[in-house]
This record gives sequence, structure tokens and C-alpha cells, in this order.
Amino acid sequence: MDCPKDGVEFETKEDEHVSLQRCADCAGIWLDIGDLSRILLRHNMPGLEKLGGTANLEELAGQCPTCHVDLMVVQGGPHKSLRYDTCESCGGIWLDQGLEGKKADTVDGLVEGIVEFYKRFGQHSQH
Ligand SMILES: [Zn+2]
Ligand SMILES: [Zn+2]
Repeated sequence: MDCPKDGVEFETKEDEHVSLQRCADCAGIWLDIGDLSRILLRHNMPGLEKLGGTANLEELAGQCPTCHVDLMVVQGGPHKSLRYDTCESCGGIWLDQGLEGKKADTVDGLVEGIVEFYKRFGQHSQH
């Protein structure tokens, strides 16, 4: 499987709970919706559909590394400043924000970055 951004082959980071595909080049993460749901649940967070976000169909994204269809950009968080990309076909998630400064060589570090990203993503500026 290759990175949707730069075509570099992913390295797999996994433990007994989740399997993450990481791009060593851009530090982005590809994970499937089942793994993301498990991560959110295990951290007492609502499911992805409850975190909101708006599809931005104008914004360009890469292609799904599995299905080779265009990914869809979803924006959310304060002033829609955050985004992740998702595949409408397989539900895969591409994340390349919020992982800076995390212990990216460990599953725990990556999971922590993912959880923090979605906590911020769920904070909406509108009332
Ligand atoms: Zn990459
Ligand atoms: Zn897909």
C-alpha cells in the first residue's frame, strides 16, 4: 500500500488492538474505519459520525491506496481549521495533521496523536 500523498510505501505499525499504516516520508497515517472506531471508543470518545465535520468537495485530496478512487476532504474543528480525508468506498481514513511531535515510532504515540486530533476536530466554533 502506498501513501496517497507522495506514493511512498507505507510501513505498518500495529499492536493487538489496531493496525496503522504510516508514511515515513510525510508522517501521514492511513487507518480503516473499524480501527478508528475502536480507538475513539477506547478513549471514551463519541463515534466519528458524532464528531461532525463538513465535506469539502472543492478541495483536492489524494487517492485511496486500496480502492484507487479520489478521497473526500472532511473539515471540522475550530473555524474548520482541521481536515482529514476519507474514502467513500471503503471508509478508510487519511490523517496528516496533529501527529507532529508525537512518538511516531510507537503505536501508542500515534494513537495519542489521533485521539488529540479528533478531540480538537469535535470542537465546533458555531453555537
Ligand atoms: Zn506520504
Ligand atoms: Zn477506499
